[in-house]
Amino acid sequence: MSIAQRIQELKQSLPSDVTLVAVSKFHPVEALQAAYDAGQRVFGESRAQELVAKQRQLPADIEWHFIGTLQTNKVKEIVPFISLIHSVDSFRLLQEIEKQAAKVDRVIRVLLEIHVAQEETKHGLTPEACRQLLADEAVTHLPHVRICGLMGMASNTDDEAQVKAEFHQIHALFSELKDGICRSNPDFTWLSMGMSHDYPLAIAEGSNLIRIGTYIFGERVY
Ligand SMILES: *Cc1c(COP(=O)(O)O)cnc(C)c1O
Repeated sequence: MSIAQRIQELKQSLPSDVTLVAVSKFHPVEALQAAYDAGQRVFGESRAQELVAKQRQLPADIEWHFIGTLQTNKVKEIVPFISLIHSVDSFRLLQEIEKQAAKVDRVIRVLLEIHVAQEETKHGLTPEACRQLLADEAVTHLPHVRICGLMGMASNTDDEAQVKAEFHQIHALFSELKDGICRSNPDFTWLSMGMSHDYPLAIAEGSNLIRIGTYIFGERVY
């Protein structure tokens, strides 16, 4: 199947309230252009330099999402155009986004990345650290940052019950925050969960933003 066919097939199969992020990291601009020509407008990248280079070469109406580990010294490169940062996991990073966003007079939408998976290498806040961060008075004084929800990954395992349980845990935290500490924030609406191998489970557990790379573009060559 071609990239265009994959995009079309995915879009037809997704519930209407689920947004597809085409994760294009490590793929050439020609592959992104093929997805664009098939109607895809939301793309996710995980490295600042690669993202900036692609953004310059591709159509201006693309909505770029950052999904990888974001170093504070790279924030200024992406704030001029980024649409959503999925992977914020510290107050320090929020502060840097605030500082750089203020300089270019933008309000940057972000998600807080939650860690529930078993793997130790994964980034993200524990549910308790997330609650504490949101309860911090200082977080409410970042006028150029808008916290729009949560992002999470499940463990990389074939154990479907475990994957389901982890997505369920992230959704439960999302609901708790939405009805609790974030209830006066109308932008707290996005739950980013699910990749090529586990997105149906993620959607079943309440995801409304899925990040699909391999299924659309094929294997990455690192
Ligand atoms: C690479 C990546 C994806 C996409 O993974 P696939 O398995 O290729 O669909 C999704 N989310 C994050 C955070 C990623 O780094």
